[in-house]
Amino acid sequence: MEKRLKVIVEKCPQNHPCPSVKICPVGALSQEGFQAPVVDHDKCIRCGKCAAFCPKMALVLESV
Ligand code: SF4
Repeated sequence: MEKRLKVIVEKCPQNHPCPSVKICPVGALSQEGFQAPVVDHDKCIRCGKCAAFCPKMALVLESV
């Protein structure tokens, strides 16, 4: 089954540097200011590390 990382903006407090940006092994997450992170789907290898790390569960690896 295909997976795709989804950023649930409503769950992200958007008031701090996103810790998951540093966790991503391929640099697929980026953040502008304190906004919710953005995923580069071409770079993302769907490993789920960021989703497991985000304490707010704002990053979800969902089946598509
Ligand atoms: S699923 Fe893995 S590769 Fe994709 S953004 Fe998250 S940490 Fe990076």
